[in-house]
Amino acid sequence: MKYYSFRYNDNWYGGIATAYCSECNLNCIYCYSHNKRNTGKDRTAREVADRLMKLAHKHGIDKCRISGGECTLDFDHLLEVLHIIMEESDLEFYRKLMALILVRTQKKLKSLQNSLLTVCT
Ligand code: SF4
Repeated sequence: MKYYSFRYNDNWYGGIATAYCSECNLNCIYCYSHNKRNTGKDRTAREVADRLMKLAHKHGIDKCRISGGECTLDFDHLLEVLHIIMEESDLEFYRKLMALILVRTQKKLKSLQNSLLTVCT
């Protein structure tokens, strides 16, 4: 999965560490990151989890998320990021899935729910 930025945001959820992925197979007119599509660098799940945990620790917060694009496109990568974060930190992972059509099977949706994601249905 490609990522174009890792940042701390203090204007969402009372402060949250955010990894911005740049991949998506849609092109919504309101997308705030459409001009970042497919930019950035390929990152491993380990790199992404480490960057999020480091950012959260630096700013003394307990939340993290992936935003910018559609992280469910590389489902195994997403689950690996989640598992590392859950194993190695007390961070809460926020992810609101607006487009459940991208989660192709009930089994995958169940995996996301089991990984403590915030799923909007
Ligand atoms: S990231 Fe979200 S808002 Fe942007 S194009 Fe993809 S589905 Fe639409």
